Amino acid sequence: MVGFTLNEEHEALRSSVEDFAREVIAPVIGDLYERGEFPYDIVSRMGKMGLFGLPFPEEYGGMGGDFFAFCLALHELARVDSSVAITLEAGVALGAMPIYRFGTAAQKDHWLPDLCQGERLAAFGLTEPGGGSDIPGGMRTTAQLDGDQWVIDGSKAFITNSGTSITSVVTALAITGRNGARPEISAIMVPSGTRGLIVGSEYSKVGWRCSDTRELAFSDCRVPAENLLGGIGRGYAQFLQTLDEGRVAIAALAAGLAQGCVDECLRYAAQRTAFGHELGHYQAIQFKIADMAARAHVARLSWYDAAARLVAGEPFKSQAAIAKLTCSNAAMDNSRDATQIFGGYGYMNEFPVARFYRDAKVLEIGEGTSEVQRMVIARQLGLDRRG
Ligand SMILES: Cc1cc2nc3c(=O)[nH]c(=O)nc-3n(C[C@H](O)[C@H](O)[C@H](O)COP(=O)(O)OP(=O)(O)OC[C@H]3O[C@@H](n4cnc5c(N)ncnc54)[C@H](O)[C@@H]3O)c2cc1C
Repeated sequence: MVGFTLNEEHEALRSSVEDFAREVIAPVIGDLYERGEFPYDIVSRMGKMGLFGLPFPEEYGGMGGDFFAFCLALHELARVDSSVAITLEAGVALGAMPIYRFGTAAQKDHWLPDLCQGERLAAFGLTEPGGGSDIPGGMRTTAQLDGDQWVIDGSKAFITNSGTSITSVVTALAITGRNGARPEISAIMVPSGTRGLIVGSEYSKVGWRCSDTRELAFSDCRVPAENLLGGIGRGYAQFLQTLDEGRVAIAALAAGLAQGCVDECLRYAAQRTAFGHELGHYQAIQFKIADMAARAHVARLSWYDAAARLVAGEPFKSQAAIAKLTCSNAAMDNSRDATQIFGGYGYMNEFPVARFYRDAKVLEIGEGTSEVQRMVIARQLGLDRRG
């Protein structure tokens, strides 16, 4: 049987995050976004609600939920604001999850409790200034063992959550050797404040204005040998698994944004009048909103499918890529149409749809561009891109 009705626990979570987003985030996010401020208070309250610990076991201070529950939370947050949602997504799916999946017992005991409480954030450094899609080929950052220390040199670009005052650790992928012509890639945890880790200033971004994104440089940056995360040379395989899960989470976030556009337009179409009628009276507007609702629905089903497979332990690589592609397309299309329905107000930052418009584009770029998703889908179909 195929069924997409939420069980009682999932529905209770969904509804409490929906309330939180409307009551706590919506009233303040416009100002924070305008100033490009990281929302420390909101993050702290999300931590207290247990959102950062959702998919982790209780022994680490987590909620003992599943990845589906985590995606549901992202969906509901993104209906109101995506920069708060991406802070949670990156903190959990990219930051804490690799530590949980690949860490030793000591690493998990050390890092996870604070991360699960949202008191601290972890970041994941893969992309480099010279390239993000072409990993491992484009990677230049190296780490060499010197006695009982890793010495890291290189740089990373666009790293989410890497420079907040509550960031505790960045996991960086680095070349630790060569296997013939192939680089051997490993993941190394670099605690915030480590000498030789240079955290750049916040980028000036088009959207996701309340999310923290920075360039990192590593210059003779030394960490203990035991900061290796997972096996030596296992970094690339670990990264592929991390990204597959992350794509499902980003898909949920994108579907939430697409639904947020529908929510806003339904309200606006009932309020705004033109030529003597509410906007919603006109079939051209009705059809636009109907198309938006259809896209948001299909998007939601696509991430439900990928997340359900992930939770069931079934293969989900292709479904994750399909969901990421479908949901980011829906977010782009819906934010463009929502802005159009709002007319001039849609172009004013104080209206949520303007934020949605600015936030949607990056969903076609981060955690694998839409072109990379198509490559993954094509390969899963047995098509070789080198033909
Ligand atoms: C706000 C933000 C937050 C981010 N957070 C993180 C983070 O926390 N951690 C992290 O590691 N990274 C992060 N990233 C980086 C992101 O994952 C990369 O930007 C993305 O993977 C693309 O890499 P790139 O920017 O180097 O583009 P490139 O790889 O240079 O690609 C440029 C363009 O060429 C296309 N392209 C590349 N190769 C091919 C090909 N073979 N065929 C067809 N088209 C191709 C791409 O699809 C893209 O359109 C973030 C990015 C942003 C903008």
